[in-house]
Amino acid sequence: MTLRQPAASGLVPKTAIRHGKPSERGHVAAICEPDINDLAKRLRFTPQEGRIWLDDQRMLLMHASSLQALRQELIDSLGLERARGLISRIGYQAGAHDAEVTKKVRAGADSYSHFLGGPQLVSLEGLVRCEPIALDIDVSTGRYFGAFHLVDCAEAEVHVKTYGIATEGVCWMLTGYACGYTSTFMGRPILWREFECRATGHEKCRVVGQPVEDWDAEARHDLRFLQIGEFLHCPGSDAGQPPAGPKIRQRRADTPENSLGLVGISTGFNAVCHKIQKAAPTDATVLFLGESGVGKEIFSKTVHRVSKRSAGPFVAVNCAAIPEALMESELFGVTKGAFTGASASRPGRFERANGGTLFLDEIGTLSWASQGKLLRALQEGEIERVGDTMVRKVDVRVIAATNVDLSEAVRRGEFRQDLFYRINVFPIKVPPLRERRDDIPLMMDWFLQRFCKKYDKAITGFRERGVDALRNYQWPGNIREMENMIERAVILADDGGALDLCHLFTAGEELDASSFRLRPDGNIESDAGDIDQGAIAAPVRAALPSLAETEVESLERAVAEAKGNLAFAARLLGISRPTMAYRLRKYGLR
Ligand SMILES: [Zn+2]
Repeated sequence: MTLRQPAASGLVPKTAIRHGKPSERGHVAAICEPDINDLAKRLRFTPQEGRIWLDDQRMLLMHASSLQALRQELIDSLGLERARGLISRIGYQAGAHDAEVTKKVRAGADSYSHFLGGPQLVSLEGLVRCEPIALDIDVSTGRYFGAFHLVDCAEAEVHVKTYGIATEGVCWMLTGYACGYTSTFMGRPILWREFECRATGHEKCRVVGQPVEDWDAEARHDLRFLQIGEFLHCPGSDAGQPPAGPKIRQRRADTPENSLGLVGISTGFNAVCHKIQKAAPTDATVLFLGESGVGKEIFSKTVHRVSKRSAGPFVAVNCAAIPEALMESELFGVTKGAFTGASASRPGRFERANGGTLFLDEIGTLSWASQGKLLRALQEGEIERVGDTMVRKVDVRVIAATNVDLSEAVRRGEFRQDLFYRINVFPIKVPPLRERRDDIPLMMDWFLQRFCKKYDKAITGFRERGVDALRNYQWPGNIREMENMIERAVILADDGGALDLCHLFTAGEELDASSFRLRPDGNIESDAGDIDQGAIAAPVRAALPSLAETEVESLERAVAEAKGNLAFAARLLGISRPTMAYRLRKYGLR
């Protein structure tokens, strides 16, 4: 009997399992284990970043002795029952994450090779060697049965070192891992139990897994260890609890957006979200600080969206894009006849934001005079249109953003101290993308999906070296740069293909190729040879100009056609004059 013909005469008599006497009569000798190299290649060491990656998950090399100390502390402080629950759930999470990895790496493989990726990953991670005894999988009908020997399990080893020979199985993290991996793989709760353990004096540990409802009530009682959440109040003997799988899976939502509708998981990102949640319900002025391209406007919109002003308008002003001469009339409005060209009265941005939020981007570029007028509007809550004597009350919440160090600008006498204090009520620093590396894989996928939809293309994902390069790249232009890069790559790549280096790095970006990977012989080697700077961009650049080049060309043509009249040139391109001026300045064309 081979593993590949699971349907033939039952591998393991399930009735025996149900009666609590699992048998190994279905023992299978001829197990064809798939090559582990595809998984090993996903393991990357980037010591310069202080990171180890397994595909897009951050990993840790942990001392087994630390695991031993941690287990001991948990057991001694929480008691066996609660410690076991906690450790099982840690395993469950790891297994569920690894199921996502094998889903990507073994996509298209038969379900046995795909499934065995889990046991292979756990070996790669150094916990144990898994020997399949019996395996019967049918994902379409949800049928599952598995039995494995765990050889040389680290968990049993550290337990014995602390507590000596145990009376029952102690491989809690591994059975939790198996539950998380198999439940995610099958899309239904699969429960694993350990029947023999090295810690109880057996040569190998033996674990068996099958759907929760195929186990008897006593076995299902193990589900209590997988209930995530209030582990300090672990339910004692509530066997009637709903299966743990679905409850745990809810925590791993499919959508990458968090409760604020933003994408990210890194510590830096979460700190920003936490502050937004605190500040949004108030009317306090929020000041976003950070390099350009980090998403300050998106965060500002989020503050508005979750504030009590969300039904009101959100009006954005890029202070750098408005010429100084027009700043006052742009912000506060103008009365007919106030100056030549003011042929009609019109409200300014402040008035238009009445009842809502005014976002002042690049506030550090405001002139000294404009700063004074802005300060008055903020202090008095009233404005005067240019050329008007009437004072108008405005109810506006101000959010500002800047990429310059305003306190330094104050010190140099370039920014008014009184205005600085006025807007610096609730500063939120948005870290650059290179300090939020955990968000990079998530954002890559998110942008890829968005642009595939926009351009109606089916891109299968990122080639491995593309993923590595994006992860190690310094991202001087931050999220905006990533957005542009992936948009361009989706346009360049063939439908049905994957994004590779030649699609991604086309504008002469500096690539840092300093990661290491596992060689088949077990040593790690540098990746440097993988990325050939010269070979990346050249062929593509010859074929197609970059978006920036195209933009510069369009701008130059429009200006030439309009004989230097910027307003007319802007109309030709369908953009506003300030945007036109801003773009020209950006590319140094003015
Ligand atoms: Zn064990």
